[in-house]
Amino acid sequence: MRALISAIALLGLSVSALSSEFVDARRQMVEEIKTMAATVARETGVAQFSPEVLAAMETVPRHAFVPADQRDAAYRNRPLPVGHGQTISQPFIVAMMTELLRVRPSDRILEVGTGSGYQAAVLAKLARDVYSIEIVRALGETAAAALKREGFDNVTTKIGDGYQGWPEYAPFDGIMVTAAPDHIPPELIDQLKPGGRLVIPVGDLVQDLMVVEKKRDGTTTSTAVVPVRFVPLTREK
Ligand code: SAH
Repeated sequence: MRALISAIALLGLSVSALSSEFVDARRQMVEEIKTMAATVARETGVAQFSPEVLAAMETVPRHAFVPADQRDAAYRNRPLPVGHGQTISQPFIVAMMTELLRVRPSDRILEVGTGSGYQAAVLAKLARDVYSIEIVRALGETAAAALKREGFDNVTTKIGDGYQGWPEYAPFDGIMVTAAPDHIPPELIDQLKPGGRLVIPVGDLVQDLMVVEKKRDGTTTSTAVVPVRFVPLTREK
């Protein structure tokens, strides 16, 4: 009995030591994001991230969304492989895209390119509901399991081609695309509410991160914010 108790105590200790280690790592990651934001502010026009976005970055357990062999690197400010030739964006880009979307607590958000599920989790901290579509089944299923395990129950996922958006849940207050098409899919503009925003990388090898705003009268304006590099948006055959 005594042996059992000490084994449990030991287990408790190592788990809490591990999670506090990640708390520090996340805090450090947020500091790096703030520094980087200030450094590139002239190009991006975003000098500071809102407290809400920084708080989301500081609480979402990124290590829970990356493959086990990448866990130690989870809080470094760089992209990581998630398998199937796909990558998860560097935390700074996740924060930047989230900031550009200007998410409000009542929002319904669509994400195209679930990948690891990490960006969806960050959005889920800020929005009421998040819908996320992934074209690679294995990735979508792993991400859905991670989101469920971590308690993000306001995220709905599906496997499919996000080029078409998700008409059943449209219109959306905001849409974020995390894979790059060579043009803006018109369906996504259609599924945006008046006053809504679409954040999307557009181009070939290097893309422009674009913000498309749909005005109250239904017309749109597009702004190129910063050059980025995303995996291409693929299409269902
Ligand atoms: N947002 C993700 C990273 C996305 S990487 C994260 O936080 O981890 C881009 C993802 O888009 C890849 O997983 C890729 O398989 C997916 N993708 C590419 N084309 C797509 C399409 N047409 N519809 C949905 N997902 C797509």
